Amino acid sequence: MKPAPFAYYRPTSLEDAAARLAEGVDDGAMILAGGQSLVPMMALRVAYPSELIDLNVLPDLGTPFIDGTALVVPALTRHASFHKADPAFGVTGRMMAEVVRHIAHYPIRQRGTFCGSLAHADPSSEWALTANVLGAELELLSTRGTRRVPIADWCDGAMSTTREPDEILVATHLPLLSETTRTGFCEISRRAGDFALGMALVAIEVQGDTITAARVGLGGIEDAPRRIAEAEAELIGQPATPDTFAKAADAAMAVVEAMGDATTPPEYRRDLAGTVIRRALAQAIA
Ligand SMILES: Cc1cc2nc3c(=O)[nH]c(=O)nc-3n(C[C@H](O)[C@H](O)[C@H](O)COP(=O)(O)OP(=O)(O)OC[C@H]3O[C@@H](n4cnc5c(N)ncnc54)[C@H](O)[C@@H]3O)c2cc1C
Repeated sequence: MKPAPFAYYRPTSLEDAAARLAEGVDDGAMILAGGQSLVPMMALRVAYPSELIDLNVLPDLGTPFIDGTALVVPALTRHASFHKADPAFGVTGRMMAEVVRHIAHYPIRQRGTFCGSLAHADPSSEWALTANVLGAELELLSTRGTRRVPIADWCDGAMSTTREPDEILVATHLPLLSETTRTGFCEISRRAGDFALGMALVAIEVQGDTITAARVGLGGIEDAPRRIAEAEAELIGQPATPDTFAKAADAAMAVVEAMGDATTPPEYRRDLAGTVIRRALAQAIA
């Protein structure tokens, strides 16, 4: 077997899982959700948990639902749950159905979870980008009780979050977009299914020819996805034209702190930020 030896625990409830995590976290106990990031990391011995606490045995955590004006995504909601846009989720559901096709490959999407993606906090997580654009709140459970964290306070670097080690992300609350919102998504990766080199998700309101509200999110460029206020400011009150979109793209390129790696220098990623924003905005008004 490739992973280091580990124990396996089947919790009887979320509270039981939280109690077990609190007990074992100092020794290296970890939550297992879809296993699509954790298990490969264990096989590579980048992760070597002492114990896996398997949420998959718990019922009723797999189906997203509407609660007032928010879409609630419980801990075991698989990526694939968003393949088909549920009419009840309106524009938000249609946007997520577009985004989900870019996450890995079909079999991975059947197991990987929305909340697992947020907990894992890869800079190229499509769901972390979506959560930022929608202004999500994350609901955490531990033996100390529950708390909610706004998405803006969640990622504090690449693969790093403000989650305490003994906390379980039990659900993500996504405020629904209004039915007049237009959305656009553009992702560039080396091959279909690869992690994004850069991606933009935008949500805008247009009255007549004028943009009245704008959210512009970037992912895969910096060490965590986020909204780019400078790009949004260039859009609001302006006509929805390619010129305006180019100004928003320039504003984003001026402020991003792009990551670099062996094959993708930061300058390339900064350029990409402008390209994906322009294309996502064009898609939104098409
Ligand atoms: C080939 C390949 C390609 C991929 N491409 C993409 C891609 O393009 N985009 C993308 O976003 N992802 C991609 N992924 C990752 C995939 O989306 C994972 O499913 C996701 O990152 C993690 O979700 P999971 O449910 O599988 O979590 P797991 O692998 O089970 O867990 C990941 C981490 O999060 C913790 N965790 C999980 N759930 C919780 C919770 N509820 N509370 C607290 N901690 C928790 C675990 O302890 C672990 O540390 C890819 C994976 C593979 C193998």
